[in-house]
Amino acid sequence: MKLTTCPLDCFDGCSIEVDENLKLKGDKSHPITQGYLCPNMNNFHKFARIEKTTLNGKEISIDEAVETIKEKLGKKTVYFRGSGNLGVMQGVTKLFFAKVGADISKGSLCEGAGAYGIEEGRGASLSWSPERVDESEVVIVWGLNSSVTNSHVLPALKGKTIIVIDPYITDIAKKSDLHVKVKPRGDIYLAMLLSRMAYMDQMED
Ligand code: SF4
Repeated sequence: MKLTTCPLDCFDGCSIEVDENLKLKGDKSHPITQGYLCPNMNNFHKFARIEKTTLNGKEISIDEAVETIKEKLGKKTVYFRGSGNLGVMQGVTKLFFAKVGADISKGSLCEGAGAYGIEEGRGASLSWSPERVDESEVVIVWGLNSSVTNSHVLPALKGKTIIVIDPYITDIAKKSDLHVKVKPRGDIYLAMLLSRMAYMDQMED
């Protein structure tokens, strides 16, 4: 049995056990993912896979395929990647484009721009760790639907007071103790108000 990590385009990075027949199972010893695998990974072998390189229906070698792509891409290619996780496997596309001579861009208009804005404003872009959530009494979920985008934090939310700030009634909002349904763009004013109150009560630490 070998241990690996899910390479799909998801932030959770579930730990996976692979046996000698390439059967996949969630790794129960992992402190965060605790043996969980979502349906995508549980049914991995049922999905159609591309196992041969072909061109116009004819099987070709991987080297021929790479040369063909290189030709089709032409001389001026910019590699731009806008989202996804940061798993090691996700670096393969960047490596590929670097090898075929593309210009590699840095950052992105979505995740990258958001992280840059946060770093400019707060000095660092930090994400919440399930361990820290586990130690908290009150958890504020601001503009995020953890039920969908971060299911591994859900066990850590059990028994906590959950406050959700979101214009939408998301699944996590339905499960919260308090849902502050701000208007779109209204959360800047809420953030200013809360900062002011924290400052007045010397709670900013
Ligand atoms: S939730 Fe699914 S896709 Fe995401 S890391 Fe886990 S097994 Fe992979």
